[in-house]
Amino acid sequence: KAKQEGKNNFQFYTRELNSILVERLEMEYQMRNALGHNEFHLHYQPKLNLRTQRITGVEALIRWHNPRQGLISPNRFIPIAEESSLIEQIGSWVLEKACMESIALSQLSGYDVPVSVNVSPRQFQQSNLVGNISRVLQETGLKPSLLELEITEGTLADTSPQFIKVLNDLKGLGIKLAIDDFGTGYSSLGYLKHFPIDNLKIDRSFVMGLESDTANQAILKAIVALGHNLGINLVAEGVETERQRDFLLSIGCDEMQGFLFSQPLPFDQAGKLLLAQDKLV
Ligand code: C2E
Ligand code: MG
Ligand code: MG
Ligand code: MG
Repeated sequence: KAKQEGKNNFQFYTRELNSILVERLEMEYQMRNALGHNEFHLHYQPKLNLRTQRITGVEALIRWHNPRQGLISPNRFIPIAEESSLIEQIGSWVLEKACMESIALSQLSGYDVPVSVNVSPRQFQQSNLVGNISRVLQETGLKPSLLELEITEGTLADTSPQFIKVLNDLKGLGIKLAIDDFGTGYSSLGYLKHFPIDNLKIDRSFVMGLESDTANQAILKAIVALGHNLGINLVAEGVETERQRDFLLSIGCDEMQGFLFSQPLPFDQAGKLLLAQDKLV
């Protein structure tokens, strides 16, 4: 009997594994087509100055509308793209599109609209990342200071001289660098001293339920103090309630992003929101 069950389990797992593999292969295949078929687009989530409540920029977030599967979350397809060279193509597309749309948003609103773009670790291993970005800036005419790259702590685990040179070359172009999901990586804090970082984006998990979570309150205070002592600007991610916003303001956090003010918006709606605000801080 046990043997029989074992065999059934084995068949079950094989079937499960097969379907996972098939789904992955299918997704990879469809992602390859997606670029050529204009299935990707970008949504923009505004980031606000906590004190003035004014929009200080937008984060570009990729969306995939697949004709067969509908809207697929980046949390599902980006990790798969990251395992192959697909992320390099998708990443280049995102960069170019975000730069072009930042310019279009500026034209719509009448003032500069800084844009932040998420960059995967694998894009840093591309030999031509700096060259690509410099070319995109030139071709689109976007002021380098209006482009920010968001990288995760995982990316910074690479302390090789080549990697540090890439970061410094990027800063040399005049663009900004942010650490995304700060506090969730396992890397040491030493990198904050060595890397030219402009913004720390504090992970949503510290903001969630902070109203009643004194541990999260303590962590947030410590991160804000740490950042400020290093001359780094602090952005809280995932702010959903007024009480969260008030707490972040009270501890001196600089900026916030989250559903309280706005979800990520399609280009047109982002343009309308920006237009409604006369001038950026
Ligand atoms: P992220 O860069 O940390 O982006 C923030 C995510 O949190 C976004 O999810 C956003 O919609 C969501 N969010 C913002 N405010 C709130 C809030 O108040 N509450 C909650 N519950 N969520 C909030 P999204 O757009 O699904 O993106 C997920 C992740 O996928 C991103 O996390 C980023 O790591 C990755 N990603 C998105 N676009 C790109 C891209 O163009 N390139 C790369 N490499 N990764 C991307
Ligand atoms: Mg991000
Ligand atoms: Mg984040
Ligand atoms: Mg994230």
